[in-house]
Amino acid sequence: MSIDEKLRGDNEAMWVPTELLDYKISVGDLAFDVCPTNRNLYLSKVENVDLPPTESRFIGRAAERLYFNMYQAITDHVKDNALSKNYHRIDPWTLLHSADADLIATSIEETKKKCSSADFEATDLEALKVKLKKVLDFEAHIATSLVQNQIARMPDHRIGSFYDDLMHFSIEPTFEAEELGFSTPVKPDFIYSGKTIGDIKTGNWHEFMNLNLTAYALAYELDRHQHMDYGIIHHVKFSNTRQVPLHYHTKFQPITNELRTFFINRRDSKLEVLKNKTDPGKPNKTICEANECPFIDHCWRMK
Ligand code: SF4
Repeated sequence: MSIDEKLRGDNEAMWVPTELLDYKISVGDLAFDVCPTNRNLYLSKVENVDLPPTESRFIGRAAERLYFNMYQAITDHVKDNALSKNYHRIDPWTLLHSADADLIATSIEETKKKCSSADFEATDLEALKVKLKKVLDFEAHIATSLVQNQIARMPDHRIGSFYDDLMHFSIEPTFEAEELGFSTPVKPDFIYSGKTIGDIKTGNWHEFMNLNLTAYALAYELDRHQHMDYGIIHHVKFSNTRQVPLHYHTKFQPITNELRTFFINRRDSKLEVLKNKTDPGKPNKTICEANECPFIDHCWRMK
């Protein structure tokens, strides 16, 4: 068997080493790879230090919910009108703009139920609504262009089925992947067309954000016994000087052997921290700052 094949998730090469089998980690804790020594994990899981509240987590979750809610609204709209043969009424632009306040309010309300109350209280809700409206306006343009462009090229009787080919997303599927060391079911943001795993990221880009996507792909391979070699990272950043959300780091990302090896190394080093329960020490402070670690005040106010 080649090294390439060994690193695929459908064999035991990716499983947790025997000596670490008693320790588990969530995908969130694995992928929040801000600290080269894993001190953040030691603080939160061994010392039980709470993460400081931050609006960035709430903004990220709310943006995700909005994408999912817009996708569902457009899907229902196209399918309902195709089923009733009211093809002339298919119009994502009008749909999204007539329901924009509801979609944004629902997304915030759903996020409030899932996030910590401290993160909610740290969030500027009016500023968040402005950010979400930018996402909605931008996606209304994109969705309308995609859908109407397809409709312009096909006879009426095919409109009912084209949407599944064009917008074939599975939203938040779950996978069991205990053998990879995960403590809970793994839930990626989406799978596109059954072949590409997807993750939505907000805020400043960090290279460690690739870890989420890799963890999702490997969990998919273990659970479904099928290869998952590609991913999409949809990166969303907001700027007060732009009317549109910024997607500088949105990309198609192959799940390479380098990423798979990176995943194994980081997972095992984190499980070691949970096993040893000793302070792994601090890296250079410039790394803490570059990675925007939320524990900076905690770690660097100490001697
Ligand atoms: S502040 Fe630095 S040392 Fe402390 S957990 Fe974060 S990255 Fe690690």
